[in-house]
Amino acid sequence: MTKICNFCGNKNFREKHVQYIYKYDNQLLVVNNVPCEECEYCGEQYFKTEVLKKIEEDFKTIYLSGKKALKEVTVPIEEFAEI
Ligand SMILES: [Zn+2]
Repeated sequence: MTKICNFCGNKNFREKHVQYIYKYDNQLLVVNNVPCEECEYCGEQYFKTEVLKKIEEDFKTIYLSGKKALKEVTVPIEEFAEI
């Protein structure tokens, strides 16, 4: 597979599993162990379209169809001007 990092032009990538945070309209879904390729030079992460589609589908199933996620956490949110 030959591809080039959009940010630094490097051609070497390594396969990794990372935590991905999907955000839509102030709603969040955190997915652990998502496969991606990371640029060895600048660290930019690239996800396959089908991987992102799957996460988007799961987001919809949770927020629209009421699927219970594996785990839920409470996230503190602040306005920078007030801290
Ligand atoms: Zn790069």
